[in-house]
Amino acid sequence: MQKFCQYLFLALSVFIIFTPVVAYADGQTFGEMLDDLAQAEAELEANNNAIQNNENQIDENNATIQSLRNEISAMGKEAEELQQEIVDANAEIEAKKEQTKSLIEYLQLSQGENVYLEYAFGAETVTDLIYRLSVVEQIAEYNDNMVAELETMIQENEDRKVELANRQEEYEQKMVELNNEISSLNSSIQKLDSLGPGLEEQVEAKKSLVEYYRSQGCSNRSDVIGVDCAASTGNAMFSRPMRTGYVTSFIGYRWGSLHRGIDLGSSTGRNTPLYSIGYGVITDIYKDAYGALCVAVQYKYGGEYYTAIYAHMSRYGNIYEGQEVTPNTILGYMGDTGYAFGVHLHLEVWPCRLYVDSECSNWSRYVSFVERQYGNGFRGAESVIAFPSTTYTTWYTK
Ligand SMILES: [Zn+2]
Repeated sequence: MQKFCQYLFLALSVFIIFTPVVAYADGQTFGEMLDDLAQAEAELEANNNAIQNNENQIDENNATIQSLRNEISAMGKEAEELQQEIVDANAEIEAKKEQTKSLIEYLQLSQGENVYLEYAFGAETVTDLIYRLSVVEQIAEYNDNMVAELETMIQENEDRKVELANRQEEYEQKMVELNNEISSLNSSIQKLDSLGPGLEEQVEAKKSLVEYYRSQGCSNRSDVIGVDCAASTGNAMFSRPMRTGYVTSFIGYRWGSLHRGIDLGSSTGRNTPLYSIGYGVITDIYKDAYGALCVAVQYKYGGEYYTAIYAHMSRYGNIYEGQEVTPNTILGYMGDTGYAFGVHLHLEVWPCRLYVDSECSNWSRYVSFVERQYGNGFRGAESVIAFPSTTYTTWYTK
């Protein structure tokens, strides 16, 4: 284990040299934290509004599609009626033509054979016959007019049918477009929905931070966190990284070298969730030189910066660099990745900002910090990590 920690330090040194500076909370004021929260809430609200707008647009499109469908159906009925009229008119035309044909046949006969016509029409006098012939002519003319009118009507119906068919096609096209729009609205809702939980989580984490700092005495927008307010109150500055567990190895010299963290075990093994030990921000998610899954979290208490390193995780929680975390944030799960014998959490707390403070890479300061804690009469991890002292012993008794 002690050798591993030397390697861990070497790995960290490499990160210190090559990883860009992560700026966070440097003199952050309570007002900036409130602004952060307000901005996250605004983003969440904008996301929710965008979802609502898309849903409204989908409703509108569906209503339009329904009315187009109704109109198409009405047009279909109208086209059927027009067709029926055309059929009826054609039948009528046939009848009229037939009637006219017979009349004309009579008329033609009448001009050739008066006697026959007298017989045929039953006229008693020539005057009577002429009268009867003119009636025949008038009926034929009337029929011709009637046929012409019916043909006009048929033409009008045919024109109207074409118009209806064109409009139906236009409406069908419009329905396709509206349906396509609904599909793209739905997929954009899906995207927005997938952003939602992340945004909500951020708002909740920021709210929790604001509440925490408020409870710690921050009230003024110009309060500088850790200086004007939320100064550390004794040992309760960090909380436990696990709900249940025990210390298997403390900070201290072991077999001639320094073990720079504490090792913690738990009966729940690999399923043990590892929580942030306080309110802070994730500054690094990385693998060390031996492949150990590690997370670095920066904290600020009493105006002092601290960086905690959680090593050997089996897997990460749902986390990202720059994420603000609370004691309820699961950073990952206990494991034995990297240079480790058995499932455990190796937890280091450094009195500095990783990648920012030059003293973070200053070995002698780190060692002297540990020694200073020893000199003050504290026992290793108890003082450096400063878990709540009252329940410490019970919780960490194996
Ligand atoms: Zn260790």
